[in-house]
Amino acid sequence: MTAMPAKEKIIVALDVPSAEAALQVAQKLHGHVGMFKVGSEVFTAEGPVTARYLVATGEQVFLDLKFHDIPNTVRAAAHQAGMMGVSLLTVHASGGRKMMEAAMDGVRAAAKARGVARPTRVLAVTALTSLGAEGLAEVGQGPPEVVVVRLARLAQAAGVDGVVASPREIVAIRQACGPNFLIVTPGIRPLAGTTDDQARTATPESAIRAGADFLVIGRPITGAADPAAAADAIAAEMEKALTVILSQAQKTMTENEILDIFRKHSALLEGHFVLSSGLHSDRYVQCALVLQHPRLAEQLCSQLADQLRHLGAAVVAAPALGGVLVAHEVARALGVRALFTERQEGAMTLRRGFSLNPGEPTLVVEDVITTGLSTRETIQCVEQAGGKVVGAGALIDRSGGAADLGLPKAALITLKIQNYNPSECPLCEAGIPAIKPGSRTKK
Ligand SMILES: [Zn+2]
Repeated sequence: MTAMPAKEKIIVALDVPSAEAALQVAQKLHGHVGMFKVGSEVFTAEGPVTARYLVATGEQVFLDLKFHDIPNTVRAAAHQAGMMGVSLLTVHASGGRKMMEAAMDGVRAAAKARGVARPTRVLAVTALTSLGAEGLAEVGQGPPEVVVVRLARLAQAAGVDGVVASPREIVAIRQACGPNFLIVTPGIRPLAGTTDDQARTATPESAIRAGADFLVIGRPITGAADPAAAADAIAAEMEKALTVILSQAQKTMTENEILDIFRKHSALLEGHFVLSSGLHSDRYVQCALVLQHPRLAEQLCSQLADQLRHLGAAVVAAPALGGVLVAHEVARALGVRALFTERQEGAMTLRRGFSLNPGEPTLVVEDVITTGLSTRETIQCVEQAGGKVVGAGALIDRSGGAADLGLPKAALITLKIQNYNPSECPLCEAGIPAIKPGSRTKK
């Protein structure tokens, strides 16, 4: 969600038959909204003159022509739009990855040619907001919530900046694609009224609360007796929603704040310990004492998920038992599935009918990375099952970052904890009694 004044988040749809009518509306709204959308109607009637004029007068323009063609054609068209200086343009995600990549090439080349730092941003249209479940079924597509998230992920993988999505799918896309993926939402009606040709509608306030970055609003502003006043009223409604969001925003915890949580729950102990490996250590980590609190588990793992989201995993895997909860919560935050591996006669295996699709991008997570051994075994197990491991993560990396997995890796906390062979343990030498934590046996 981008931080900017509410009015900047309003895109007014200039759905009018002539450039003259479009520019009249735009003039009335100058300074009251962030952008103007030029669509097929006025573009077909008058060509690029409306967009060019608006750009020349300092307005931001969203060129909504929904390109859907072979990649070379879309690259060339996106290049032309970029040269025109529009801020946003649309392509159909169902045109495929190569077509979306070509659009990105086109706008980047245009930015380079014009010497501007920020290229025109490209949005993918997932499913037209006029299509409900029935309409999508008729064209051979699944239910909107499935189609939209699948196409949004594809668009993100192709490098596009965001999507156009109906109000009902904002939450699912935000969850699947993370905080930096633009979501532009049409189908906004400030008051209960007709839903016209957009089957999925919402109020400005609800769309902003759901996580939309920009709202496209047409007739409720352009058809008002005083369009500027109508825009101001909508901006005020959005501002309220933005204030609520800011006050509720879950802030990212620092490493020290996370360490405090572990200490508070006796999950990080200092003393003299015998680890399950038989090695001795001066510190002991027991994540289960933190993870037994579902809200903490959710909060910590979603922070870890944010660090791994860019890897585009479709599955999160972890070794049982310690990693099960972490995989589950990271997967929840990423909107993907979680599974776990188990040791059977010494070897890490996938049981319970768990399987991976060939080449399926998979994250391997743990509660704690000590030497990286069990993470490596899990990676191997996932790859034997046909998955492709794209990265690894842990709540705590107690190897001090030394455990090299040959993969992108993230940890909420990195600690350098000394492990000693019992024969060389300085704590034993000092005569401090060693305890085996986690054991129920009372001495
Ligand atoms: Zn010792």
